[in-house]
Amino acid sequence: MKIIHLKPPVIVRDFAPALGLKPFKLISELMEMGIFASMNQTIDETVATKVAEKHGFLLEIKHRGDAASQQAAKEKEKEKQKKPDEDESKHLVTRPPVVCILGHVDHGKTSLLDAIRKANVAAGEAGGITQHIGAYQIEHNGQKITFLDTPGHAAFTKMRSRGASGADVAILVVAADDGFMPQTDEALKIALGVKQSHPDKFALLVAINKMDVKGANIDQVKAQMQQRNIAPEDWGGETVTVPVSAIKGTGIDELLEMILLQSDVLELKANPKAEASGVIIESQVDVGRGPLATVIVQRGTLRVGDAIVCGQHWAKVRAMFDDRGQPVKEAPPSTPVRVIGWSGTPDSGASFRTVKNNREAENLAEEEQMRARKAATQTAAVPKEITVASLFANIAATQAKVLKVLIKTDVFGSSEAVRHVLEGIKSSKVSLEIVSTDVGLVTKNDVLMAGTGGAVILGFNTKLENGVTPLAKHHGVRVETFGIIYELGDKVREMMADLLDPEQKEVKLGAAEVRATFPLAKGLVAGCLVTEGKVTRNASARVRRGRETLYEGKVATLKRFKDDANEVRAGLECGIKLDDYNGYQAGDIIECFEIQKVRAAL
Ligand code: GDP
Repeated sequence: MKIIHLKPPVIVRDFAPALGLKPFKLISELMEMGIFASMNQTIDETVATKVAEKHGFLLEIKHRGDAASQQAAKEKEKEKQKKPDEDESKHLVTRPPVVCILGHVDHGKTSLLDAIRKANVAAGEAGGITQHIGAYQIEHNGQKITFLDTPGHAAFTKMRSRGASGADVAILVVAADDGFMPQTDEALKIALGVKQSHPDKFALLVAINKMDVKGANIDQVKAQMQQRNIAPEDWGGETVTVPVSAIKGTGIDELLEMILLQSDVLELKANPKAEASGVIIESQVDVGRGPLATVIVQRGTLRVGDAIVCGQHWAKVRAMFDDRGQPVKEAPPSTPVRVIGWSGTPDSGASFRTVKNNREAENLAEEEQMRARKAATQTAAVPKEITVASLFANIAATQAKVLKVLIKTDVFGSSEAVRHVLEGIKSSKVSLEIVSTDVGLVTKNDVLMAGTGGAVILGFNTKLENGVTPLAKHHGVRVETFGIIYELGDKVREMMADLLDPEQKEVKLGAAEVRATFPLAKGLVAGCLVTEGKVTRNASARVRRGRETLYEGKVATLKRFKDDANEVRAGLECGIKLDDYNGYQAGDIIECFEIQKVRAAL
């Protein structure tokens, strides 16, 4: 038997050629074994050994050093990260500001981002087609500015909830014809929160947009700013305020100048020589290239070949692309780049950092996965002990009728779209609660989470991680995936309606007219002509005389001549007897109907 020597970790892309296989062949073989691995993923050593044996090889994995020396290496790495900032300060250089645009829906955030970007593209430098990667960088008067290009407040809020402020400057967009609206206030609250925790590191600007429209009322907006304690400069306050029109392109230059002025005041600096760390803007799975994530480097310089770790995921940076789709070799501070080579999709808003090598990155990610799994099973176990409190909570929950959903989508933009659709579903009887929204595959962790909270999982433009289906079945968690947004909306509406008791609907089957009555051994039978539809044995029926209903019951006897019949259609004669009723008269109508249960309306 031939021997293959490999150093751990065993990665698909290295292992396949060692076996003399094309990587996709290995991937499909692994799939047959129930293991989903991408090019850059590590295979369990026992699995690798089995696969090698199948192809007639003996696999020898050379472990370098023992656990103790690995631990020592880890400690050393930690020390290195703790290096005091003093020897860094001499390396500090000015970095571009990272700007986010917040505001109410339809006030022109997207238009403004487009206008800024377009103005810059016209100035023209390196070509390439602009790509939406969640952030872009422009140059104004020779100075760079990075914009977060994610719709809605979600990305910003998420970053903030994870402790990384992400942006240095927030531009609050207020439409001149509309003034402050609920989401404007929500955004302002978030921005002021950041400012409070980082007073010298964060600036807020107001852009009064749609100055070109007829109803534009700049003074009203300024008065609203004053009411909110963010009075504009020309009203004696401190808030830089720029009137703009995203559509006409007016005021954009001034806005960019103000951003640069503010960032001068903030003295934004970073050490490009440090090991790179930063924040994830968005992530998604690309069919050809595997998981991708757009990151903004906040400190240091990220280079192709670096090993980075972010929570449960890691990457060997295989390639990086800028917002024009151009490959770049390195990304200095404040640069947004799309990174290829991830083991999975890291969470947007999460921080990443560079570590020594792939192995360490993978180990750290695996440790994090274990921790998460443990936490998930611990919480998942709780509801099993039924306490009086949880019982009451359950009763209350069923009475209140809530559909809880956990959303997974391919990219951030989609989760915004899904949210939008769900928020459009109105019902006074059932409420809809979005437990969480996230980007990436539907994972086992999602199933555990959904199981604990009694939620259903909605996947949009995404797939299931291997093993999700059986786990979901085990925990009784419903997982639905969609590729079309309105289908998702329809299904959710259906699921909400299913929580309600079904409504009963009467469906008329037919009617018969009583022509004569015939005595039987016991009571009377009505001799009838079926005038419409059909009369069916055991169906419900009522006897009507004029407007009056004399009796309601079941068709107990139905006869064609002397024989029992199951149903008799229009135009035919028959004998009908309802239960023990005997009060028929010629001219009465016997109506035959069925009660159907139908889904209640929301
Ligand atoms: P967002 O929801 O905040 O991203 O808003 P959009 O950028 O999608 O803009 C909403 C609508 O307002 C669109 O129909 C835009 O064409 C329009 N709009 C945006 N900016 C301006 C502007 O400066 N002037 C005028 N007249 N319309 C604008």
